[in-house]
Amino acid sequence: MTYNTTADFAKQADADDPLAIFRQQFLIPQHDGKDAVYLCGNSLGLQPKAAERYLKDQLGYWQDKAVEGWFDGDKPWLGYHREVAALVAPIVGAESNEVSVMNSLTVNLHLLLVSFYNPTSKRFKILMEAGAFPSDQYAVESQVKFYDLDPAEAIIELKPRENEHTLRTEDIIEAIETHKDELTLVLFGGINYYTGQVFNMQAITEAAHKAGAYAGFDLAHAAGNVPVQLHNSGVDFACWCSYKYMNSGPGGISGIFVHQKHHNTNFKRFAGWWGYREDKRFLMQPGFDPAVGAEGWQVSTSPVMLLALHKASLDIFEQAGGINVLREKSVKLTGYFEYLIKSINEDLGKEVYQIITPANSDERGCQLSIICRYKPKETFNHLVSKDIIGDWREPDVIRLSPVPLYNSFADVYTAYLGLREAIQIIDI
Ligand SMILES: *Cc1c(COP(=O)(O)O)cnc(C)c1O
Repeated sequence: MTYNTTADFAKQADADDPLAIFRQQFLIPQHDGKDAVYLCGNSLGLQPKAAERYLKDQLGYWQDKAVEGWFDGDKPWLGYHREVAALVAPIVGAESNEVSVMNSLTVNLHLLLVSFYNPTSKRFKILMEAGAFPSDQYAVESQVKFYDLDPAEAIIELKPRENEHTLRTEDIIEAIETHKDELTLVLFGGINYYTGQVFNMQAITEAAHKAGAYAGFDLAHAAGNVPVQLHNSGVDFACWCSYKYMNSGPGGISGIFVHQKHHNTNFKRFAGWWGYREDKRFLMQPGFDPAVGAEGWQVSTSPVMLLALHKASLDIFEQAGGINVLREKSVKLTGYFEYLIKSINEDLGKEVYQIITPANSDERGCQLSIICRYKPKETFNHLVSKDIIGDWREPDVIRLSPVPLYNSFADVYTAYLGLREAIQIIDI
């Protein structure tokens, strides 16, 4: 796509966009009776209009059938989580039985670490990206302490090279090799939440396995944003939340992936009755006998209302043709945004806005992380005053994420005008 800076370009691109119709399936926040420019799907995806109906349907089953809702009707609650898992699986490149939809993200990370972090006196180290999302840092730190190990020794945090913002794959591989005798787990984001960098999951997984370690990924910023291939990349485990790019609502139900190679029922885990094999669960016998597959990691009764909200959005993903189709638009949309931001710098002859997200579209999703070199907070406040909603990360980064399902080229153009105006207002 050859971009230019005219308003007509955005208009034409929206007119030519076969996915533009899906915006109508979402509730766009209103400011003064107008659609806000919502570029914050990296934090909380928008509400599908159908979400209310999906929820009402379940409330209706509860009303009509009460406890019999678990077994009765065309869609009994007992198997509902499996229907949802089957819709998530293609989004993360997994087989259906490798995905379980349950709990929330950090809880799932803990459950997976119980299974995949097995420190011994010789092998006890975890390699992570420096500046991982704080919840992941706290989870890992507390897991390490749980084994009476010292986090300063057991957690290796990999930083970008000096004057660089993102990690080079070759440096990640090298670090894995360097620590190979003591490493038991490599735990990375699929996409770093701060920089928007996509990590090469296949290369990291291969290197981890060569070193005799497991490879796990937190896909909070990747799931529903970029296609990933968990199964084919041989990733051991992964988890994600669904309220960012999968629009399941605040605190929505999240998901896990456990590769088929780990589906033997003796695999170490923390158990609960919802992970028990379904055909015998209600015999209520002593002795945990897990379901085969990721379902065997379930602990508690499925929260049906949360599943319904998740499904409302997943059905739209399917109608739109799936993650690969969305990705095609996403590459264009984010490329357009990058082009426009760069044009501001070019017109001014200086880099007012430094994009720290990789320039190569294979190494990023829809998010652009922008360092505002001059008066960052004022710039952000100006965007807010123009009803352009992104998010702010200390000390000087604005994250803006055009989402292909509901953002338009016109949204991106308006955000560009906001960034352009900010410069005049703050008088650089
Ligand atoms: C958003 C996000 C979280 C949030 O975790 P919750 O348990 O859902 O609160 C955790 N980790 C990463 C990497 C995230 O991006």
